[in-house]
Amino acid sequence: MSIEVQNISKSYGAQKALDNVSFSVKKGEIVGFLGPNGAGKSTLMKILTTYINADEGKASVNDNDVNENQKAVQLSVGYLAEHNPLYLDLYVREYLEFNADVYKVSKARIEEVIELTGLTPESHKKIGQLSKGYRQRVGLATALLHNPDVLILDEPTTGLDPNQLVEIRNVIKNVGKNKTVFLSTHIMQEVEAICDRVIIINNGKIVTDKKLDKLVSEIKEQIIEVEFDKKINLELFSKLTDLTNYKNTHNNVWELTFETENDMRSALFDFAQENGLKTLQLNLKNKNLETIFREKTSKK
Ligand code: ADP
Ligand code: MG
Repeated sequence: MSIEVQNISKSYGAQKALDNVSFSVKKGEIVGFLGPNGAGKSTLMKILTTYINADEGKASVNDNDVNENQKAVQLSVGYLAEHNPLYLDLYVREYLEFNADVYKVSKARIEEVIELTGLTPESHKKIGQLSKGYRQRVGLATALLHNPDVLILDEPTTGLDPNQLVEIRNVIKNVGKNKTVFLSTHIMQEVEAICDRVIIINNGKIVTDKKLDKLVSEIKEQIIEVEFDKKINLELFSKLTDLTNYKNTHNNVWELTFETENDMRSALFDFAQENGLKTLQLNLKNKNLETIFREKTSKK
């Protein structure tokens, strides 16, 4: 296993940040660690990278225990911290060389990570002159220097503009081809864009751990907004099979809920015609992954 977490708990004073967390990540997987702010994502990542210790439980990276084998863990992991500190006065290469010294990394490898993270056109600049997106690339390049098997990236795209975000995602997908990637985010779209699997954490507890396609296939409910040209006789709704709920939102606009995997829009169109009605609009307001995330992490 690349990452193994067994019954990890961690408190800060009276605040329980992680509550009996367990999961594992296989070699080569790209796993999204999703949760709202304060859920415990960074805390777990700091434990996995040996920056802090858990109160209870066991964790290992590349089969090295985070307590017993810290050096080996650090060598297996490339870590991009949440607020990655960079020296703004240093040139990109200078900064990478400085970090390379710690790991005894060759000059050739520095050029390799510059290339890999798309830093080449900006590599002659000082870090302070770079955009946020390029600073994140410097962080990623640093994490990659010692060619670790496992990448742990704490909210790598937070604070980036939409273009930078897409670019960094592509860089991560690219470098993730030969590595295990465990990345945290509070955005479901991020998981959809990069990951094979999602682990959702809320209030320090794991609430979902699934392959993305499994999660998608679980969505059976379908919500359609339909506007008819005139008032509808409610009894007609009984003709619609798989209809589980209907709600009048305004005038002749209805929100209909079906429990089916078939797209009900064409059936609704026919239904209207057969019953002397016209459909003025017909919108699929399907439950998407974002909705699942909100359901799993909403405060009860
Ligand atoms: P996330 O990364 O998911 O936003 P964190 O792991 O940073 O969550 O935080 C989890 C909880 O632990 C939060 O309630 C946070 O306020 C608390 N916490 C995190 N770090 C500390 C700390 N150093 N001291 C006290 N409380 C902390
Ligand atoms: Mg965090």
